[in-house]
Parts: sequence; structure tokens; C-alpha cells
Amino acid sequence: MQISELQLKQVNDQIDRLRLSGSFYGKKLEAAGITGVTSHEDFIRLPFSEKADLRNAYPLGLMAAREDEIVRIHSSSGTTGLPVIIPYTAKDVDDWAIMFKRCYETAGITNMDRIQITPAYGLWTAGIGFQLGAEKLGAMVIPMGPGNTEKQLTMMQDLGSTVLCSTSSYALLLAEEIEKRGIKDRIKLKKGVIGSERWGDKMRQRISGSLGIELYDIYGLTEIYGPGIGINCKYETGMHYWDDYIYIEIIDPVTGDNLPDGEWGEIVITTLVKEGAPLIRYRTHDLSRIIPGECPCGSRFPRIDTIMGRTDDMVKIKGVNVFPSQIEEVLKQFPEASSEYQIRISHLDGKDTMRLYVETNGSVDFADLAARIASTVKSRIGFTPLVKVVELGLLPRSEKKTKRVYDERYE
Ligand code: ZN
Repeated sequence: MQISELQLKQVNDQIDRLRLSGSFYGKKLEAAGITGVTSHEDFIRLPFSEKADLRNAYPLGLMAAREDEIVRIHSSSGTTGLPVIIPYTAKDVDDWAIMFKRCYETAGITNMDRIQITPAYGLWTAGIGFQLGAEKLGAMVIPMGPGNTEKQLTMMQDLGSTVLCSTSSYALLLAEEIEKRGIKDRIKLKKGVIGSERWGDKMRQRISGSLGIELYDIYGLTEIYGPGIGINCKYETGMHYWDDYIYIEIIDPVTGDNLPDGEWGEIVITTLVKEGAPLIRYRTHDLSRIIPGECPCGSRFPRIDTIMGRTDDMVKIKGVNVFPSQIEEVLKQFPEASSEYQIRISHLDGKDTMRLYVETNGSVDFADLAARIASTVKSRIGFTPLVKVVELGLLPRSEKKTKRVYDERYE
């Protein structure tokens, strides 16, 4: 998608702000002799920014506004090394709330809804983002935070929550718990807003089927405000994103070249009006594509597809590139299998081996199901995994993100 004249002007304002502040990125732009852009071609020559660079700016090197203008920081969880600290001005916080309110509205949520928020509050952007948007909308917030399933279910029944905000793994856990207890008729949920975790259709059907609710995927990352920069509408044709706040391009993750609309690649985001920590061409490592054309809902906002995975989830096995979403595609064809699976890659006797753990209920022949799944993976993806079928409920469920791929070759 070509960058518009207005967006180019906004990018130039972001570049000016970065340079004037002498922030980490300002210095980088200065060193590269970049003072502005006048065309799309100019823009796509700007250097990318990477999470590793953001870490190098720890703690406050990204700050591009005066200290007295900064009202808050958030931080992305540093699984390896230093965390990334993102400073926000009052306007950034407000812009984020406006975007989030738009997300709720796109999902058909109103000020008459009661929104139960289960993602974590704190340094993490999730809980507080869901909260600010809901308050801006004027809905009633039930700020639970994560965990304590017992209390979640009590509040959900007693307060009659109509919207659940959650990760997909926790929504599944709650759905299964509600089923197990037989309390579905006491639950008033109508919609689920599911945050920033890639999940398959099968899991989606399991959650929406057992709770009887509509599900909405919300997109975002801490480095760029947080969740709330995009969401699907009821037509489920991908996620609308707010191009008055961010510019999205899709690149080939290997060459870095821009890809045409419709092609799958890595999402790269440029903030357009950020004050605290503007980012130019930030590589998200999320895989998606721009969906060409217009959505039947008539929204003027462009769309990206549901996130297919992360460039770093890609595992190379026997010379074949494999994404977890391809395994999900295969599992979708087996109604006997649950939505849960685990992939373990190891190196045995000089060969790469994939073990694929799949859950089923006790009513099928485990060995037969395993053999059928293995041969489907072979014909669809090009190698034969060792499939182990296990009892339903045996694979771990988590309150946060469920880790599905374990590459044991480098451990
Ligand atoms: Zn739409």
C-alpha cells in the first residue's frame, strides 16, 4: 500500500521530532544523514528499526519528548536480555485509548456492555489498554487481571459480564471450565476480544462454540502503543487497522523488500503521530498480508490478515520451512483432534525429527489417528513427523501464551 501525502508529511514530523530530541533514533538518523522523505521510494529506503536496537537504548534512550511531558512508561517482557522501555506522553495515552475505543466499536461493543478484563495490568500494555479503551467507550469495566479462575467465574456470573477480554489460551481454559461445571446458562457473555496471540480456527471454534460468543482478534504490540491498533469486524475478513496513527508495510523477511498487497510477509510499522517514542519502519516479525479491496462493512480503514505466525517461529526441518499454522491447517481436517498441539524438534542419530503431540478424546484408535495425521503432514508439508496422540486435557493450557514449538536441537 503506497504511503499517502499526508502520511509522508507525518513521517517527516516524526523524523524532525526524533532528530531534535537527540534520542537514540534521532542520533541514528542524524548519522545516516536522513532529514526527511518526499516520496514512497524515499520512504522505503529508510533504515528498519529492530527490537535489538530498542534494547540498546535501555533504559530511556528512546525518549523523544521532554521529561515533563512523559506521563508513563510501559515495557515489553524481555524473555532474553534487557526489556524495552517505551515512554508515553499524555497525548500518546489518549491516542491509544481512542484507537482502542474504535476497536470495541468495530466489534459492536457499546457503553451498555460489561467488559471483563483478564490480561495483566502493570508494565505490560495489555490490561491497562483494554481498560482505557473501555472507559473511553463508557462501558462498565470489571478489571480482573489474570488468573484466579474461581473468582473470574464468580464475577462473570454475578456481574453478568457481556464481553471477555483475554488471551486465546485463557479463553479456552475458561470455556472448558464453564463446560465442566455446567454453568453456561448462567453466563451472559456475547463477545470475546482476544489479544495478540496467534491462534488457529480450531481453537476459535472450540471457544466460540462452547461459550456461544462472537470472537474478535485484536492486534498490537508494546513497542507501538500496545494492543488496539487493529481488530476484525463482524465480517471476519481480516483486521482493520488505524492508518491515521500507523503506516503498515509488508516486507519479505529475508530480503527486506516491500511486497505487493495480498502477499504474505513480515509486518513493518511506522508510527505517524507518536510523541514519547516514535518508531520508523519497526520490524514486528509478525507474519501477515495486506488484504486488497474493500470490506463489506464499508469501513474506510485498510485491513491486514489474521497473524499467521512469527518469522522466528519458522523452523527448518529436513530443508523444509515449517510454520505452526501449517500444522494447524492439517489438524483442522481431523475433527477427532482437539485444538491443542505441541511440536518438538530434535536431532536424533544425525537426523532432524519432529514429534507432534495431538490431543483427542478416548473414543478413537490412537495409533490409527496418529498414522493418518502423519501421512497428511507428509503429503501437505513434505516430511513425516512422529505423531503421538494423547488424552484430551493432557497438553498444558496456560493463562498467558501457550508455547507450542520446542526446538530442542539447540538446547
Ligand atoms: Zn470490515
